[in-house]
Amino acid sequence: MSIIAEPAIQTPDTGKIDLVGMSRAEMAAEFDRLGLPAFRVKQVWHWIYHHGVRDFTEMTTIAKGMQQELAGIFDISRPGISTEQTSTDGTRKWLMSFADGKMAEAVHIPEFDRGAVCVSSQVGCTLNCRFCHTGTQLMVRNLTAAEIVGQFMLARDSYGEWPSSKEPRQLTNIVMMGMGEPLYNYDNVVKALRIVMDEEGINVSRRRITLSTAGVVPMIPQIGADLGVQLAISLHAVNDDLRDEIVPINKKYPIADLLDACRAYPEARNSRRITFEYVMLKGMNDTPADARELVRLISGIPAKINLIPFNPWPGAPYECSTDEDIEAFAEIVNRAGYSSPVRKPRGRDIFAACGQLKTESLRERKSA
Ligand code: SAH
Repeated sequence: MSIIAEPAIQTPDTGKIDLVGMSRAEMAAEFDRLGLPAFRVKQVWHWIYHHGVRDFTEMTTIAKGMQQELAGIFDISRPGISTEQTSTDGTRKWLMSFADGKMAEAVHIPEFDRGAVCVSSQVGCTLNCRFCHTGTQLMVRNLTAAEIVGQFMLARDSYGEWPSSKEPRQLTNIVMMGMGEPLYNYDNVVKALRIVMDEEGINVSRRRITLSTAGVVPMIPQIGADLGVQLAISLHAVNDDLRDEIVPINKKYPIADLLDACRAYPEARNSRRITFEYVMLKGMNDTPADARELVRLISGIPAKINLIPFNPWPGAPYECSTDEDIEAFAEIVNRAGYSSPVRKPRGRDIFAACGQLKTESLRERKSA
């Protein structure tokens, strides 16, 4: 099933100042500039990020007059939802449309008593990984911090999971594994994740957040220092020749440099493991010899290997490895002492699985 839809609800550009996506310090500065007392920042923050309110009139600890004053100046934005689809396996995908008509997707992958929201960092991507559908889409722009944090907020809206203290919940984890390369939109991603981790707001702990990168090596040390979230690396190949071809950023930052950065990642020493993602491509990277080489390469790194069966898309130049080959690969990695779960494809019927996300923004489509 493909998605072609006009946006039903589009984020209106009201010309007001959006409170979503501001750091606490920025919100404090805004309020200060308007002569509003500092304690209001804490209150409003709590209403927006703990209770999830989108309307100042719901902020019942704030007097009506002040509510009106705030509403005249500020917005509490959400990405517009163009389409929302739910897979037969429960996976839910939102095609979001932003104020400028650009579009991106977010996905929720439910498990029995938890679930991860897969968040996008860019509209399109610059990386051109050959097995990834998003890579065939031109890079349009970085998402703002508001648009990034807004994806998790709209998922909470959709599942009715406000306030933040509500238990049990379906949305427990965040994976920065949607469209785009998060480390090429570093400042906005850091800002958004700091908002998400704030304990007086959305309050998702850094242990429940995974940032996945194709390997922007110079930025890796900073993630540890700035966020301390879980790190995932899209490795996918065990030699530079193949990785140059399927993950072209490898030409700039080859495997040896990437693994050095992983060895130095502060959190890796801290009993937490780095996840290596490895897409299983038939006849490309899936032999027992590849598995043994993988084990050799990552030795010394506290790691887990996430084997991802290739998810097909129209015109894709690859096929998924056979179940037997995936099992044999997993077995070798496992025997070497690494956990090597095979990622179950989720939401393939709605093109929500890894690497299947691709959208064209409305404007691009119209002009085409
Ligand atoms: N740019 C970042 C974030 C994207 S994460 C990164 O590369 O890590 C999306 C994950 O899905 C990556 O591991 C990506 O390599 C993988 N992927 C992409 N296309 C895929 C496909 N067709 N089948 C399975 N996994 C795919």
